Amino acid sequence: MANSVTVKKRGAVLSVASECTPLVKTGGLADVVGALPGGLAKEGWLLRTILPAYPGLVDRLKSPKVVWSAKNLFGGPAQVFAGKTAKSDGALDFLLLQATHLYDRAGSIYMNPQGKDWPDNPQRFAALSWVAAEISKKGLSDGWRPNVLHAHDWQAGLAPAYLAYGGSRDVASLVTIHNIAFQGVAPASMLRTLKLPRKQFVQDGFEYWGKISTLKAGLMTADAITTVSPTYAQELLEPEFGMGLEGVIEYKRDRLHGILNGVDLKAWNPRTDASIEHTYSPRNISAKVKNTKALEKEFGLNKGAGPLFAIISRLTHQKGLDLVLETLPALLARGGRLIVLGSGDVEMEKAFVKAAKEYPGQVAVNIGYDEAQSHRIYAGADVMMVPSRFEPCGLTQLYALRYGTLPLVSRTGGLADTVIDANDAAVKAGVATGVQVAPSRSDSLEQGIRRICDLFENQALWGQLQKRAMAQPLGWEQSAKSYSALYQSLIN
Ligand code: ADP
Repeated sequence: MANSVTVKKRGAVLSVASECTPLVKTGGLADVVGALPGGLAKEGWLLRTILPAYPGLVDRLKSPKVVWSAKNLFGGPAQVFAGKTAKSDGALDFLLLQATHLYDRAGSIYMNPQGKDWPDNPQRFAALSWVAAEISKKGLSDGWRPNVLHAHDWQAGLAPAYLAYGGSRDVASLVTIHNIAFQGVAPASMLRTLKLPRKQFVQDGFEYWGKISTLKAGLMTADAITTVSPTYAQELLEPEFGMGLEGVIEYKRDRLHGILNGVDLKAWNPRTDASIEHTYSPRNISAKVKNTKALEKEFGLNKGAGPLFAIISRLTHQKGLDLVLETLPALLARGGRLIVLGSGDVEMEKAFVKAAKEYPGQVAVNIGYDEAQSHRIYAGADVMMVPSRFEPCGLTQLYALRYGTLPLVSRTGGLADTVIDANDAAVKAGVATGVQVAPSRSDSLEQGIRRICDLFENQALWGQLQKRAMAQPLGWEQSAKSYSALYQSLIN
């Protein structure tokens, strides 16, 4: 094989998550879980990702085979199908947990068609975690057994816990916190339903203000904890960011590591992106303007003297988008225009729709989720706004950098770690890649809008910033090395 480099085989990892690109995605978690296997394969690790078999997913595997089964998994029969996705879908190695009573339903993966969380979410994800722990303990019928169990977020939090409560010590475990705001809280009355030992329903176990927290269960039992940026790892120790779990984080501090997310450089490449009309690279960045024009047309926006701002986001309090509504007059006064692609809080959706009606030709909104359109926006916008109140890592600003769309972000979490503010010193030193503002403050955001509009007026400088943004090393190499070293240390 051309280019083949012998990689030392290090071990096998079972990655446990509720979503994973390219099969199912509601946010950044899916992209990270989907990119890890590729990054870590280069370090010698074989990752298999276990996901619930939501409707239609098993059909996306090539020659799926049953490798595990149970007559009664949390109230019904279950099977695990193993198989790879097609090459065009990344040829990723999946284990899909099929359990009709838990996962085969209309609506989104977490919510019913009315937008309410499925009432049996605790069971749905406990079942996933249970099976992951069983596979870690006893292996699959194809003989495969992992050395490391890697659990992502609250949905997989019980996997290391089930391992630990079962007394299994020969498989190492790791929990990654992608967002500590989601803690998997369930009523204490579900102890038995979730197959949890009553003696662990204590402060040193998974008890959390009289309830069960599946994330806390994972944090208390895993051999290591990672989160998705160094700054967020520090922030988690503070009550404002730890959201009630800061004491647990402090207690487990010596096991905590901040490893920055990377991006899938193949899927997010303006040079080859099949979703955009005019591909471009840092060398012919002027071709980006054609995407801007196409985007203005697509959204019915007027031309303007200022930058085309964009937001691609869940519309929630975390993302600080209410501050954008407050600062909208300042943005428009500078000839800026705004595109919003997102969905979430109904009130916020309404507020953006109202703004689009109030400022036709200047503000355009698509309430929904559209992967292909998101690529067109990354390619065509001038500025990507990410004014989050907190942001564990954030992928939006990373994709924006890659597409030469300068990020305007809050100075928090992974945003602080990945965007270099264009203050005078950074501009002179030739390192700036965007603009940072203080989180949760509309006056600071307004000032940031003014600053980025000033930069935009100097088109020569703007071009330099774009090229530098596009040249940032955003891939998985560095992070994969960090995860690899961590897996290795856990096995040792
Ligand atoms: P979070 O995981 O908190 O939602 P991230 O910035 O880590 O935030 O990841 C968000 C991911 O979801 C990015 O890949 C972004 O492009 C994508 N995304 C968010 N909203 C939409 C949407 N409405 N349509 C398409 N993609 C979206």
